[in-house]
Amino acid sequence: MFITFEGIDGSGKSTQSRMLADHLIRAGRDVILTREPGGSPGAEEIRRLLVEGDPDRWSAETELLLFTAARRDHVERKIQPALAAGQTVISDRFADSTRVYQGAARGDLRAKVDLLHREMIGLEPDLTYIIDMDAKAALGRGKARLSGEDRFEDMGLSFQEQLRAGFHALASSAPRCTLIDGTGSAEDVHARVIAHFEAHHGG
Ligand code: ATP
Ligand code: C5P
Repeated sequence: MFITFEGIDGSGKSTQSRMLADHLIRAGRDVILTREPGGSPGAEEIRRLLVEGDPDRWSAETELLLFTAARRDHVERKIQPALAAGQTVISDRFADSTRVYQGAARGDLRAKVDLLHREMIGLEPDLTYIIDMDAKAALGRGKARLSGEDRFEDMGLSFQEQLRAGFHALASSAPRCTLIDGTGSAEDVHARVIAHFEAHHGG
């Protein structure tokens, strides 16, 4: 089973991915937790090219190709082998981030995003949790841990609001996607994820 967590920056994807992985491991599942951009050694190298440097280091098109190259390596080297071995894979971001960030919010590359996904990736999650919350509050959470090394860090509130709208649109068009209220404590949000998971995929 392939599960992904998506959402705007600072919404709590990493925290919730980890909490669901721990929950499923405790329940006896064989789980691997991974992330994008990155997740395999080659993709982590590409991640560095993507996140370091000037904000305008890459054109929107080059950036899309780099995200796609990283994802291809991640899928080939890590996700597909794990799924073939019967493991449950949980990824903190996957192709929906590219649909929303590169496809909808940063230049109208939607057709190219879809084409590259079809030709080069061709894998969809079984289940996607979109952690949804107010962009300003999420940005506030994120600001507490800014590293200064991420060239996407200063994209601003209106960009995050555009992303949130993009995730809402995705959630209403793809049945595998479930919006999860990201407000409250990490435990509150985790309880919402578990309630959905147990109702639909438990047992
Ligand atoms: P990014 O996309 O920027 O990597 P993210 O969506 O993966 O972020 P996290 O890294 O899980 O988000 O959380 C962002 C910050 O907010 C972290 O410092 C984390 O400890 C904190 N945090 C996560 N969930 C909550 C919550 N429900 N309430 C308050 N703080 C939270
Ligand atoms: O989620 P994470 O913090 O690891 O992502 C690294 C950076 O890459 C973030 O600033 C995020 O906004 C950006 N990103 C992006 N397009 C994607 C995925 C992530 O611009 N498809």
